[in-house]
Amino acid sequence: MNKILPTSTAGSLPKPLWLAEPQTLWSPWKLQGKELHAGKQDALRLALLQQQRAGIDIVSDGEQSRQHFVTTLIEHLDGVDFSRRETVRIRKRYDASVPTVVGPVSRKGSVFVDDAKFLRLQTKQPIKWALPGPMTMIDTLYDAHYKSRKALAWEFAKILNEEAKELAAAGVDIIQFDEPAFNVFFDDVNEWGIACLERAIEGLKCETAVHICYGYGIKANTDWKKTLGSEWRQYEAVFPKLQQSKIDIVSLECHNSRVPLELLALIRGKKVMVGVIDVASDSMETPEEVADTLRKALQYVDADKLYPCTNCGMAPLARHIANGKLHALAAGAEIVRQELLG
Ligand SMILES: [Zn+2]
Repeated sequence: MNKILPTSTAGSLPKPLWLAEPQTLWSPWKLQGKELHAGKQDALRLALLQQQRAGIDIVSDGEQSRQHFVTTLIEHLDGVDFSRRETVRIRKRYDASVPTVVGPVSRKGSVFVDDAKFLRLQTKQPIKWALPGPMTMIDTLYDAHYKSRKALAWEFAKILNEEAKELAAAGVDIIQFDEPAFNVFFDDVNEWGIACLERAIEGLKCETAVHICYGYGIKANTDWKKTLGSEWRQYEAVFPKLQQSKIDIVSLECHNSRVPLELLALIRGKKVMVGVIDVASDSMETPEEVADTLRKALQYVDADKLYPCTNCGMAPLARHIANGKLHALAAGAEIVRQELLG
């Protein structure tokens, strides 16, 4: 990026009312067959337009073609049986009925590459594409085959690497791996989680990011946050090793969270997508509030490495709220950009 403080979102945006039930996770599609395919493309165009109108610099597909940030990828894999459901506890937080790994996992074909090509045709702006990270994927499944979290995560890392290489070839500039699980399973992250992430980015020619957050603004997450005390120091457990890793960018949650900002010093040298928009609240940030969080982050992140972003995806928000927050993000970044340029 030539521009300093380039803005982006963590990934998802609300879907149009005619495509899926709003403000609902795993919301079923309202269209089918060819209509669904065309509807997803129209929604992607709208999501892009919404970002462009707000002045977002690094754009995404708004995850308009996926029902869920993890499940949609898994649906395209062999070795997973969606009719065999088991209830597991996701990120030690809430129970969900998930599919079962019944044999060796492999990719049947590319999953998001056509969508990425379609987005590439619509804009010359830099594109960021989100994929689930290996550790977050294994946490959203029941494993009756490998019976080893590490072994299954490693297989997923290889699959993600194949997909990521095709996305980069399709013109994606930044590939982001969503790893909210990195905020929960600290020992695993340090023992093999980061190694799996590095396997997923092996040989990639584009930039790479990892997004680690405190989750969507759903009740299970807000209840969990209440148990975390006055200071959220989860990042402290994984940042030192992440700083040493080959990942280019770390995307994290800052605004309205209790993350002590001095923890950002632990990843000095990395580019940082700093979350300056709270996705767990409908109250609208002002540009000045956004600017204030960015100024604080600048104490620990060099200006040329600071990327203003949202705390997490905005899929569960009402559309007009998400839209207002995108505008606040761009306006707040512009305030600090002008200050830096003097
Ligand atoms: Zn997130």
